[in-house]
Parts: sequence; C-alpha cells; structure tokens
Amino acid sequence: MALIREKDSKRLHIKSKLMGESLVGKTFLQSLEYKEAFKILPDVNVLKIGGQSITDIGAKAVLPIIDEIVQNARQHKMIISTGGGTRSRHVYAIAMELGMPTGIISKLGQSISEQNALILSTLLTPYGGIKIGHDDVPKLGAYFMQGCIPVIHGMPPYGYWEHPPEEGRIPSNRTDVGAYLLAEVIGAKQCIFIKDVDGLYTDNPKVDPDAEFIPKIGAKELLDRNLDDLVVERVVLDLLTRAQNMQQVQIINGTKEGNITRALNGEHVGTIIYKDI
Ligand code: ADP
Ligand code: MG
Repeated sequence: MALIREKDSKRLHIKSKLMGESLVGKTFLQSLEYKEAFKILPDVNVLKIGGQSITDIGAKAVLPIIDEIVQNARQHKMIISTGGGTRSRHVYAIAMELGMPTGIISKLGQSISEQNALILSTLLTPYGGIKIGHDDVPKLGAYFMQGCIPVIHGMPPYGYWEHPPEEGRIPSNRTDVGAYLLAEVIGAKQCIFIKDVDGLYTDNPKVDPDAEFIPKIGAKELLDRNLDDLVVERVVLDLLTRAQNMQQVQIINGTKEGNITRALNGEHVGTIIYKDI
C-alpha cells in the first residue's frame, strides 16, 4: 500500500478508504462496506455456568452438570465460562462500602469468576478440562484439536477500564456479558446460559410465583418491556441488538438433568432471546 505524506501537516498516511478519517463520522461509517464477520469456531458452544445460580449450590448442582458436559464432550465442542456468584456479591458489598470505583469492583469480580474457573477446570481435568485465560483465545482451535474442554472465567477483561454504569457502581459488564462476547467474537454455534430457573419470566419467579414464563422473545422487545428484574445481565440484550455473529442465546435450567444435552442438540428447552432488529 502506498504511503502518502500530507503537504501541509506532513502527516503520513497509508492510502486506504479510512485514510485521514476520524473514524467517528456517522455518514462515513455508514458508507463503509463490511464483509460478513469471520466465524473463528463456528462449531463450538459457549456454556456459561452461573456462579450464584449453579456453582454456589455446590456438589448437588455442579457434579451432575460436570457429568453431563463430559457425556457430551465427544459430540459437542464446548467452552465453559464461569460466573462469580455469592463471593462476588460479598466483595462488591465490601468494596462499595469502602467507596471503591467501578474499575476496582470489576477487577474484584474477575478474580472470583477465576476461582470458579479453577474449580470447574479441576473437576474437568481428568476429561480434558483446561483452564485458560483471555489471552488464550487464539489457542482455542489447537485445544479443540486435542479434545480439550477449555474453561475460561466469564468476567470480561474491561477491568480498571470498566465503564461507569448508568446506575450505581456495580459493573454492568459482568460474566453473562463476558460469555456472550466470547461467543460473538469466535462466531460460536450457540451461547447457552445454565442457571437454576427454567428461563425468563415476567418477573423473578423466586419472588413472584405468579410470574409468567416467556419461552422466546426478541432482545429489543424485551428491552422495551423494561422489566424490573431479569434472568440475564441487561447489557447482553443491548449486545444482541447489535449482534454480528451470535444472533440468539438460550437460558436453560441446569438443575434439571438432560437440559444441557438437549440444548446442545439444538432443542428449545428454556428461553431463547434473539436479535429482533
Ligand atoms: P448467575 O449466577 O447465572 O449469574 P443470577 O443469580 O445472577 O445467575 O441470575 C439468575 C437468577 O435471576 C434466577 O435464579 C432468578 O431468581 C433471577 N431472576 C430475576 N429476574 C428474573 C426473571 N425476570 N426471570 C427469571 N429469573 C429471574
Ligand atoms: Mg448473574
């Protein structure tokens, strides 16, 4: 590509369509043609194992899920992404009382989801489980060639750079977001959230027994409904409206045996939230 020196400012450019652009011009950005996003690992399923909703229940919930993952490992490629749960909430509460900024709270949350990744990868080690970090994403292809089951902590790596949330100080990009964004960047087959409820309801079913189950809904429609509480982090819905690869997610109840297998086989067993704009 040709190098071009500006006459007046002496700025050096590489000749391209983006040359000299600020990259924030709305009309300019709209005018660009984008190739379809490359799907790095289109046959891989991202499974997020809830921190509070699964890992914190302990052996009763975790061990049957490990069994089901292992049983499916020959037929389905899986990356296990881990949540934080009660210990995250504990450290968030202490940090907030001490006035910690959002970026610090995010780092604290990351180390808890990493603890859960260590626990789950240890349980999976006899079957090819391998704990990986965010920088290991480019190695995933090689790990799958060897039959590994990679386990990654779910907290996305914004860390100190976590954006202050609209409300309060708790990072809005937490482990659901991290699992979704991983699925998006690798162009995964499915993104499945394993929790302790059947899926999305009109309200938290543990608090409101009259809450109605919603088997399938568009992300934009759900955002517009502005429900007070949700089964998945709200940012996941925002991201779904802008999805390039990962056009839907499914939330399933991992405490019911067989659900993970059915979801991996492409069945609708929980709530599907899809890109609707
Ligand atoms: P995780 O540990 O997987 O991040 P969370 O505990 O953060 O899971 O979120 C799952 C929980 O969300 C459910 O156990 C449920 O009690 C609660 N919840 C809140 N609002 C809803 C809703 N509208 N529909 C379903 N579950 C909800
Ligand atoms: Mg959660």
